[in-house]
Amino acid sequence: MKNLHRVFNLLLLVLVASLTSFCSKKDEVTETRIIALSGNLNFGQVEIGKSVTKTFTINNTGSSPLSVTGFILPAKFSGSFAGSIPAQGSQIVNITFTPDVVGSFSGIITVQGNQTAGTNTISVAGEGVQLVKSINLVGDLNFGTVTVGESSQKNLTIQNTGTADLVVSGISLPTGFSGNFSGTIAAKGSQVVAITFKPTQATAYSGTVNVAANHSTGTNTLAISGTGTQSPTKIIALLPSTLDFGSIEVNNKAEKTFTIKNTGNSPLTIQSVSVPTGYQSSYNSGTLAADASVEVKITFAPTTVGTFNGNITINSNADSGGNLVSVTGTSVATSTRIIGLSGSLAFGNVETGKTATKVLTITNTGTGNLTVTGLTLPAGFSAAFSGTVNANGGTQLVTITFAPTSAVVYSGNVTVNGNQTSGSNTIAISGTGTTSTVADPLAIYRRIYGATSVTQDGNFVVIKSNGRPDHKSPYYKNTEWESTLYVNDTRAGFNQAPGNKVATSNITFRIPMNPTEATNKQTLGAATIGVALNGVAFFNQYQAQSQLISPNVGEYVSFDLYGGHPTPMNEYHYHIEPNFLTTTKGKDALLGFLLDGFPVYGPLENGTTLTSANLDAYHGHKHATADYPNGIYHYHITADPPYINGNGYFGVAGTWTK
Ligand SMILES: [Zn+2]
Ligand SMILES: [Zn+2]
Repeated sequence: MKNLHRVFNLLLLVLVASLTSFCSKKDEVTETRIIALSGNLNFGQVEIGKSVTKTFTINNTGSSPLSVTGFILPAKFSGSFAGSIPAQGSQIVNITFTPDVVGSFSGIITVQGNQTAGTNTISVAGEGVQLVKSINLVGDLNFGTVTVGESSQKNLTIQNTGTADLVVSGISLPTGFSGNFSGTIAAKGSQVVAITFKPTQATAYSGTVNVAANHSTGTNTLAISGTGTQSPTKIIALLPSTLDFGSIEVNNKAEKTFTIKNTGNSPLTIQSVSVPTGYQSSYNSGTLAADASVEVKITFAPTTVGTFNGNITINSNADSGGNLVSVTGTSVATSTRIIGLSGSLAFGNVETGKTATKVLTITNTGTGNLTVTGLTLPAGFSAAFSGTVNANGGTQLVTITFAPTSAVVYSGNVTVNGNQTSGSNTIAISGTGTTSTVADPLAIYRRIYGATSVTQDGNFVVIKSNGRPDHKSPYYKNTEWESTLYVNDTRAGFNQAPGNKVATSNITFRIPMNPTEATNKQTLGAATIGVALNGVAFFNQYQAQSQLISPNVGEYVSFDLYGGHPTPMNEYHYHIEPNFLTTTKGKDALLGFLLDGFPVYGPLENGTTLTSANLDAYHGHKHATADYPNGIYHYHITADPPYINGNGYFGVAGTWTK
């Protein structure tokens, strides 16, 4: 019914319009309602479950109000308007897109109204999407070692692997690291963020980067690490820092060394070693590790006379330390070394097997020190010296030994070998070897003139004697020697032993050649205790080995005018001073030896007549005598008892036999 009414109205309008066109134009009024739609209704992507609203405008460019009754909309879009839009007016209308499933939605919105002309449709489109905000971090954030105080940068990439914008609010980092970002990263997009590592200590730094964002999935953390290291040092040290070469002759060389050391903690590069004129360096460049050193030999080799002072400069990449070594040296003109030899080297006669020494003086009168390397000598001579003889009159004494091995003349020149520049380095030397005269060890015993033989047997001297006195005696009566040796002893108190007379015995005395003191002193044996120079035996001081002989009693009265008497077996001997010997040899003379080898002297010594009180218990003492200049123990015969010996032998006694 309503539609019929509308069709009728339409027909009526057409009729009216036709009639109007037939009528006079100036009286006709024509009503227009012209519709036009404007606006952008492309909603793009909208997350399902959410709504987005856009607007479009309905324009009426006609001359009469446009009446809008409603819209026809595609699915998922909504919006409505009903009302009148005045002539030349417009109306803004909201359209909302509300997808509830994933998919594309589009179509035409038709505005229903009473327009007389114009377009009453407008396109609309939108997509329902399922949105994902996913984060991922990419990058190598291991910074390795970085020097304290310095910094290093690496890139962190924040990836948005989702389907929706990712909103980053910030980045947190461990101590030592810095870098930040906040903002939106579009879906499938990424953002590079510079991360800086700047250690303040020489230690390890590590932790985790944490990116704060609105992600719904993914990983927003990444490991980060780095190590702070001490700042490298390269410190040069020179030791010593001065080299004094002193004074050397021109065109000579001298060497000294110094050490370059790197006391820093990183390699030191030596680029060059420059030396002043006159010097050379064994080392010119190289690298020294931390704590390493190198010894540099500097040679001073001046080719002109003068002073050579300056600095050795070590060029390097050192941060600190001295780089100069001062050198001083002087080159002087070549010196002279003038040798001179002096000394009397005529040794004269020297026995073969013996040696003699004389002194040679080496003098250097040059201006430089003389170096002596040795001496050359003729056969028979020896000496040794090598060393320095100082300049300007320095001397060296050298002892030269002459040791002839043959009885011939030795002569020639001594040559001193050295670096002398002038002078005479030879001197005559001579000497004569003579036959050796070895002392006769038996000489002292050969003074026993009454011996029939004196021989050596090992450490003993063997003395043989016939025992007869060489002086006259009343006891030669009725002997074959009576005509020449008998004397009538007329002394008052002399009482010649009847029947006793002098006869020949064969006595052998065996006494030590090198007498020594006995540890345990031996008592005297029976009768014979030694031998006198005339070969007559000394007897002990006891009568019958028990009673001390006393003057004018006992057998004392039978002692003849020379102090001796024979035994009943006709063995002549002395108990007291053999005064024939002290008369002929002297009161202070050597008179003989006891069996222990120690000599027997007379009573006089150094002008003093000794008594038993001057002597020890063995009737002797020790000091030097004319025969024994080195000193020896010896007995003295005294006028008072016990005459020759006291309590026994001082030394170790030998033997006697007959
Ligand atoms: Zn007697
Ligand atoms: Zn004496």
